[in-house]
Amino acid sequence: MFHPALTPDAPLDRHNSFRVPARAVWLAEIENPDHIPEILDLPQTRNLPRLILGAGSNVLFTRDFPGLVLTLRNRDIKVLADDAKTVLVHVEAGVRWHDLVTWTLERDLCGLENLALIPGLVGAAPIQNIGAYGAEISDVLETVEVFDCQAGQGRRLDREACRFGYRRSQFQKEPDRWVIIAIELKLSRKAPLRIDYPGIREELAALQADPPTARSVAEAVIRLRRRKLPDPAEIGNAGSFFKNPILTPEHGQLLRDRFPELPVFESPLGKKVSAAWLIERGGWKGFREGDAGVSPQHALVLVNYGTATGAQIWSLAQRIQDSIRADFGLELDVEPRIL
Ligand SMILES: Cc1cc2nc3c(=O)[nH]c(=O)nc-3n(C[C@H](O)[C@H](O)[C@H](O)COP(=O)(O)OP(=O)(O)OC[C@H]3O[C@@H](n4cnc5c(N)ncnc54)[C@H](O)[C@@H]3O)c2cc1C
Repeated sequence: MFHPALTPDAPLDRHNSFRVPARAVWLAEIENPDHIPEILDLPQTRNLPRLILGAGSNVLFTRDFPGLVLTLRNRDIKVLADDAKTVLVHVEAGVRWHDLVTWTLERDLCGLENLALIPGLVGAAPIQNIGAYGAEISDVLETVEVFDCQAGQGRRLDREACRFGYRRSQFQKEPDRWVIIAIELKLSRKAPLRIDYPGIREELAALQADPPTARSVAEAVIRLRRRKLPDPAEIGNAGSFFKNPILTPEHGQLLRDRFPELPVFESPLGKKVSAAWLIERGGWKGFREGDAGVSPQHALVLVNYGTATGAQIWSLAQRIQDSIRADFGLELDVEPRIL
């Protein structure tokens, strides 16, 4: 007898935004997180590898997953506290991220407007500290509620404990130990809007949004994203595939002597160079081999034109890494999780 939440030999094609074929030995779709310990301790699942999956928009399956894929379907949003200035919101992991952004905008709450239209579910958002257009979830995140699979119990972690950085968190150090069940966000009724990121002011002007509001900033971000990024509903992709490399001062100088037009920008971790520029300069933008390719729209985005496998996309990614290492002496780190 199968447990009702379990599907055996489950196809994962619809559970990853690259739309590559893969199967899991078991798939568990769980509405009530109280059932997690029971699912993890079934005779069929107990000794198998485990993967916690959201909407699959930041993973690449290069083969079948030899174990249990667990995904949460809890979808409640509620207000925990509300004063004149701030609102504390509790959001369950299975809520679509952009639905949460829309929910906050409908209530004139500020804090998530720059993060509009990021694909995926709320439970995954703290994993890589999602960020865009000058904002990150860690700016507003108060608490993460988790189930600790190692200790077999629930815990609440504050922002400090999550150790957030640029597309980084503590959770990545022990993947699949922590199941994020819900998060708490502190949103503001009147936060200063972040409109300095390149492109936002121009879009606001085009929208005649004067003065700008959280809603108009979100609208500007949505317009920018729609223009720049291929839509995973139309063409398989996982957004940016590579991170921007950080330069040592010596290497930065060497590269700038060789390539005076090299786009370098400041970050809290030091000077960074645009990975998109490196890839374009390496001649990869728009490259296609079979159905695996580099988007002609955005050099950081690898795409599946239809029937590419994860292994083919991963092989292309590694060729790009080799070429950037040979041309510029730089390592391109990968953003999605390779499975
Ligand atoms: C077109 C496109 C644009 C994108 N733009 C951005 C962007 O601007 N900024 C940005 O930061 N990201 C961006 N991404 C990446 C992606 O949207 C985010 O990383 C998102 O948070 C992934 O959510 P998901 O539910 O799909 O997670 P998944 O891909 O399912 O999982 C991602 C990671 O989180 C883990 N995980 C998922 N859910 C849980 C949970 N409940 N508990 C514990 N671990 C969990 C998984 O094991 C995996 O390691 C983009 C992706 C696409 C396709």
